[in-house]
Amino acid sequence: MSLFEDIPVDVGIIYEGERIRGRDMQIELGGPREEYKFELVQSKPMDKIDDGKITIVGRDISELPEGTNTPFGMVIEVGGAEIEKDLEGVIERRLHEYVNFIEGFMHLNQRYDIQMRLSKKSYQKGFNSFKVFGEVLLRLYKSELPFIEKMQITFYTDPEKVEELYPKAIEIYDGRDARARGMSDDEVDVFYGCSLCQSFAPTHLCVITPQRYANCGAISWFDGRATAKVDPKGPVFEVTKGDLIDAVTGEYAGVNQVLREKSLGEIERVQLYTAFGYPHTSCGCFEGCAFYIPEVDGYGVVHRNYKGETVNGLSFVTISDLTAGGRQVDGFHGLSIEYMRSPKFLQADGGWDRVVWMPKDIMDRIKEYMPPEIIPKIATENDIEDLDQLKAWLTERGHPIVDTWKEEEAVAEAPAAPQQMAYPQQMPTTFMMPTMELPAGAVPGLPSGMNIRIILKNAKIKAEKVIIRVEKE
Ligand code: SF4
Repeated sequence: MSLFEDIPVDVGIIYEGERIRGRDMQIELGGPREEYKFELVQSKPMDKIDDGKITIVGRDISELPEGTNTPFGMVIEVGGAEIEKDLEGVIERRLHEYVNFIEGFMHLNQRYDIQMRLSKKSYQKGFNSFKVFGEVLLRLYKSELPFIEKMQITFYTDPEKVEELYPKAIEIYDGRDARARGMSDDEVDVFYGCSLCQSFAPTHLCVITPQRYANCGAISWFDGRATAKVDPKGPVFEVTKGDLIDAVTGEYAGVNQVLREKSLGEIERVQLYTAFGYPHTSCGCFEGCAFYIPEVDGYGVVHRNYKGETVNGLSFVTISDLTAGGRQVDGFHGLSIEYMRSPKFLQADGGWDRVVWMPKDIMDRIKEYMPPEIIPKIATENDIEDLDQLKAWLTERGHPIVDTWKEEEAVAEAPAAPQQMAYPQQMPTTFMMPTMELPAGAVPGLPSGMNIRIILKNAKIKAEKVIIRVEKE
């Protein structure tokens, strides 16, 4: 008998990556419209777990009105001889995979930021209770991760209970994140790779180091170490650093080699501490994103929960679309909030001296890890509204980026020297109408002295990179 024969919908890897649009959704659990939502795995002594127990606190799926969203919490308690605290984060992250295995069920993001949708179709087939949902998860976890010997799940949809438990969950996440702080990438021989999101972005691989937390913000170097030990064939594995190629950009020969293999040759190199050149790829579930602002030659940083427009008029969704997909996009860099606490944060690009704008709540969350002198010089949505105001703010506050404008102006006034300038791949840039001149004799019968010019009107040209080279005659 198949593991899921008595489950009313199909369960399997083929459903990973399935999207459920608003019009097709029966219910949404968590999501951007809900302030309180979380998923949490906790390890417990074996005698504290009632194996297989599923508890629902609040309304069940069938009691939630069609087409609505609800506050949502999910606590999974696990026990086993091999289970240690460091495994909690990775067991929790596997929810992203297992929930997406369920036909008509979509799971996005992680931890305090989850968004899950059940489709009307699967609901009508009988997937109408958290008991069914819990049963699928219990079976998947126990069959895929045999070191889990006992497991119980509690689902919360009671809004008061979700709100009450939310700060406790945040405290637990913060405690996990704090563990790797103070460790350096230089003092370890191995990093960890995670390919869990390759079903969404096949060329993406997260490289998890002590000082560069996973993009989703859910897996630390310690979590990687613990999981690679108990689940060596799983999606999280050891990456030998190999020779250091560049300490400033964070490039290692061993990392490059693994990247090449795991991306099937698509990604050749990665530099861990920069958003230009060979930046770390982004799948789609990054917690935040650094984006280059060419008008001031600085970075903005925005996070998933930011609802407004950023200083250059883009929403998080737009920036996220430009960044995601496992590509290396110059100037767009998916990252975790914890990486912003790292001394290696955008080290090769100037670190915090290059950041010019960020949402106020993120600044408040991480300010004790930012250089104190830069804090009043970085603008937030409460200070300014557009790029003109940003320029004025940076000048007024004496942001270090302003000195680099002066240097650039001085260079611009000097006689032109041959140079090469790479623009970010995805930057919207306005160019002159593309034209092409044919060489003499290319069109038979054309009177000598006359040329033909082809004007490509309204042509749409897609280029990986635009290189402007100033050459001497
Ligand atoms: S974002 Fe990275 S670390 Fe997190 S689950 Fe996806 S691949 Fe793994």
